Amino acid sequence: MTVRAGREFLAIPGPTTMPDEVLQAMHRPALDIYSREMIELSDSLHDDLSKLFATKNRSYIHIANGHGAWEAAISNVLSRGDKILVLESGRFAVGWGIAAGMMGVDVEVLKGDWRRAVRPAEVEERLRQDKEHTIKAVLVAQVDTASGVWNDIEAIGKAIKAAGHPALYMVDTVASLGCMPFEMDAWGVDVAMSGSQKGLMTPPGLGFVSASDRAREAHKKANLRTPYWDWTEREGSEHYRKYAGTAPVHLLFAMRKAIDMLFAEGLENTFQRHRLLGEAVRRAVSRWSEGQVLSINIAETSERSNTVTTVMTNGYDPVPLHRYCKEKCGVVLGVGIGELHGQAFRIAHMGHVNAPMILGTLAVIETALKALQIPHGRGGTEAAIEWLGESVSA
Ligand SMILES: *Cc1c(COP(=O)(O)O)cnc(C)c1O
Repeated sequence: MTVRAGREFLAIPGPTTMPDEVLQAMHRPALDIYSREMIELSDSLHDDLSKLFATKNRSYIHIANGHGAWEAAISNVLSRGDKILVLESGRFAVGWGIAAGMMGVDVEVLKGDWRRAVRPAEVEERLRQDKEHTIKAVLVAQVDTASGVWNDIEAIGKAIKAAGHPALYMVDTVASLGCMPFEMDAWGVDVAMSGSQKGLMTPPGLGFVSASDRAREAHKKANLRTPYWDWTEREGSEHYRKYAGTAPVHLLFAMRKAIDMLFAEGLENTFQRHRLLGEAVRRAVSRWSEGQVLSINIAETSERSNTVTTVMTNGYDPVPLHRYCKEKCGVVLGVGIGELHGQAFRIAHMGHVNAPMILGTLAVIETALKALQIPHGRGGTEAAIEWLGESVSA
């Protein structure tokens, strides 16, 4: 017997649930890619992307996933043999560094930990040691989707400044843009990148990059540039060149609708919704943790992301739980990846999520804990309800 008929719910950290309005926005014929309507659509999206990054800088839209946007960022500002410093706090910044390494960049990883955020003081200290300024860029993820950590991009930016170091500051916002505050200009970020399919509620397939004036200076001398990613190529006089070929017309229709929805809600409200729902998840997991099996991976409460929670299963195989939620109840949780493979599951709470989706997901996990007799503190979903009842005023 199962209770899974009806719509399956994706609680994985990407691709996330897309609003029906976004799906419907794609249900129309393509546009003439040289038409005024197309150019207006595309211009509006480039401008709004810069608003999402909170920058006066120009942004670029690539037909690519996040891995493609990583490559776009690296190839436009670095040269073969350049050294970069990657700030570890899970899997993603390190993955970006591995890509850079394959492209011919010399990569140093500032050793971190999968249980905590990057420490700005450690970044400052490492940069102060680099008196010759051989490090050309510092790479970090705002949210690491594997560990569930949130890194303080503003504080790390200040640490780079305090060290008096000229390295470019490059930030991955794939799992945070449109969900949590990000201030490219105010925080001194030189290259920001993101993707369409997480907080931005759009199908996978668009990769975003924005570049500061300093990044554009570095771009002039970069020798890793290739025609597809190249910013200069994309600034040619014909609009066509912005996509280095045919524009991804339907993905742009979807993105337009998704951003309209975000702006209609108001970004501050969107961020607050993620704070409230993220905390609801944490309240539930904390209650379950009283059973001495489950625990939130990130130890420090202030370092936990509002978009994804990684739950350690401490000796219990997470596969039966994952399977029960999916096959019996129609809720797909994220699995533990990288170092946490086989030791964790992940609950995504990013993008198009609301109270019934989150409370439903928590209730299903609690049902699975009971059915599988995994020891847990009672009343996790109840704790989430109490939190929302106190925080969302009548
Ligand atoms: C998902 C993710 C990526 C990779 O994006 P893809 O679209 O899967 O290539 C990069 N960084 C972070 C932080 C992510 O969460």
